[in-house]
Amino acid sequence: MDRSRQRIISIMKVVLKAFLSAQTLLQTASFLSPSVLSSARRLPSSVALSSSIGTMTAHTEVNAFIDDTNTSYERLHRAFELQFWGTKMALSGPQYSTEELTRTKSEMEAFLADESKLAKTRELLKIVPADSHHAKTLKMLERTFRCYIMESEEAKALRGEAMKIEGQLEAARNKLSLGAVIDGKFEEMSSVGLRNKVRVDPDENVRKACYEGLTKIGDFVTENGFVELVKVRNRMAKALGYLDFYDYKVTNAEGFGKIALFEILDTLEKGTRPIMEAARKRFAEENGGDDALEPWNLSFKMAGDVTRRMDPYFPFSKSVEMWGRSFAAMNIGYRGATMDLDLLDRKGKYSNGFCHWPQPAWVKSDGSFQPSVTHFTSLADPSAVGSGYTGLTTLMHEAGHAAHFSNIEMPSPLFSQERSPTSVAYAELQSMFLDSLVGDADWMAKYAISKDGEAIPWDLIADKIKATHPYKVFALRGMIAVPYFEKALYEMPEEDVTAESIKALADTVEKDIQGGLSPRPLLSVPHVLSDEASCYYHGYVLAEMGVHQTREYFLKRDGFIADNPKVGPTITEAYWKPGNSEPFLDLVENLTGSPLAGQAWINMLKQSVEDLLKEEKVAYDKKRAESNADSSCDDIDLNMRIRIVDGDDVLADTAVDGSFLATCNRFENYVQERFMKK
Ligand SMILES: [Zn+2]
Repeated sequence: MDRSRQRIISIMKVVLKAFLSAQTLLQTASFLSPSVLSSARRLPSSVALSSSIGTMTAHTEVNAFIDDTNTSYERLHRAFELQFWGTKMALSGPQYSTEELTRTKSEMEAFLADESKLAKTRELLKIVPADSHHAKTLKMLERTFRCYIMESEEAKALRGEAMKIEGQLEAARNKLSLGAVIDGKFEEMSSVGLRNKVRVDPDENVRKACYEGLTKIGDFVTENGFVELVKVRNRMAKALGYLDFYDYKVTNAEGFGKIALFEILDTLEKGTRPIMEAARKRFAEENGGDDALEPWNLSFKMAGDVTRRMDPYFPFSKSVEMWGRSFAAMNIGYRGATMDLDLLDRKGKYSNGFCHWPQPAWVKSDGSFQPSVTHFTSLADPSAVGSGYTGLTTLMHEAGHAAHFSNIEMPSPLFSQERSPTSVAYAELQSMFLDSLVGDADWMAKYAISKDGEAIPWDLIADKIKATHPYKVFALRGMIAVPYFEKALYEMPEEDVTAESIKALADTVEKDIQGGLSPRPLLSVPHVLSDEASCYYHGYVLAEMGVHQTREYFLKRDGFIADNPKVGPTITEAYWKPGNSEPFLDLVENLTGSPLAGQAWINMLKQSVEDLLKEEKVAYDKKRAESNADSSCDDIDLNMRIRIVDGDDVLADTAVDGSFLATCNRFENYVQERFMKK
């Protein structure tokens, strides 16, 4: 349950990843300063290499181009991100407006899609030594510009066509009235509302009606342009020389193609198929027969009362402090960064959580380090049951992203911005690794503490393990179903793509991968539709594989992860410092010593409940004993300034309150005052 919630948060994140729209492909004016342009004209590369004076000038020219690209991008990026934050948080300052948001966004996008910059980058790449630091930066710039520039007229036209169909489909989808027929009456509900009822409504008839409501999304999209969209996307990708649209998207996002991706995913699919089959059998036996496996029964019967019982041990008001304590114990620092956290839900605030960086961290050409600025928001309602657990997990996740991006140490802000070519798998691995700690018994033994200071009892953790561990494989199969479906979708011969064949394919993949129809019908997954999120879901699967492999590595090397002071320095060096300069797969292999594979995740799923209980009990007891012995309240230094805000109001600020714990204390009192009064 907790993980699936986290998944929803992650899913929101991918939708939020700002990618570029069709108009960005238009060529626009260069942002190069006049002096750079004139020196570029004076010295073609062949001349530059011919004499020592020429080499020096070439060196100057490369420096000037990189410096100018860096500072121009940084300025445009910051202007857009400040508007993004101001408008999404509904801040009152007169400087924030949707017009300014659009203007700053177009300026940034035009910069990234500037064809003259790509040409210049390539020209300079020919004159710098291949192993120089300049070459490394220029190669990254080339990769970046290529993500936003389409180098084929035919493909450009097809992309325009695809964007048009997608726009129409989206507009129609927004007007679609979803809902379910309950007691003979149609009740309107959003897809989120339908999904929620499928999970929690005690009446099977209602759950079934809501599930059927969800399947209507598939009918609707296949009748409103999706069929044509699939065809046009494929034509565009083929015009660019890719196998199909999936291959095109994967290559752009990850730097390797579809074939390599599915070699990795297949190991996971094959390795967990028998586990899935056994789990379904066990689930049916434990829940009164095969009926329990119906898509409208499965998630309902899986949800127990563990969440409610755990709630008192995850007080929301303590979440900031627990995150800080646990990261500090792992020696994770933020290198002088500033972070604004807007954690609470309120009217007028954007309804999705996100984490953005108005200021990327980077090393300037004079050698000085520019610390990052992070904006992070969630929609916590401290009075709702389960909000503390969700709030803390979200905080660990987003603060993990923030730690990653504040520790990138490369000579350009374009190594440390979160858009393409930064891989989703790479970014999510960091945050998912850190939020995975919240599920560990030793972590909970120390940090899941009630308001009265009482630690979460072992029996409750044991109940959680018994209720969730045997069925964790369902989440994995639900995740991989999306990439398997999309792969097959874009591999269909064009003449076979029809509304009927797409719907039949979705059902076939659900039955094959998940063992039966899915509680979340594949065609209701929003990612499948939109350009930026389609053929992208594998990023989460790869990240989760990386999480398990990284966890296994630390457990083998050090025996534990929670409060392990070596964790921070190790991941900072191996994963964080390089930013997007190195492929995700290389980073994982460099740290863990083996290529990314599904084995660690499979091993986790294969472990028996009895074994896991034994292991976790030992870890729990050890941590309890340690915590009882150590009652120190040393202050926490994450090497950053934290401001906890609520829209325009600053609730707490380390620069004013003096220390991290004083800031946490102020926030805690505020939450108590506002939400917990009788
Ligand atoms: Zn994330």
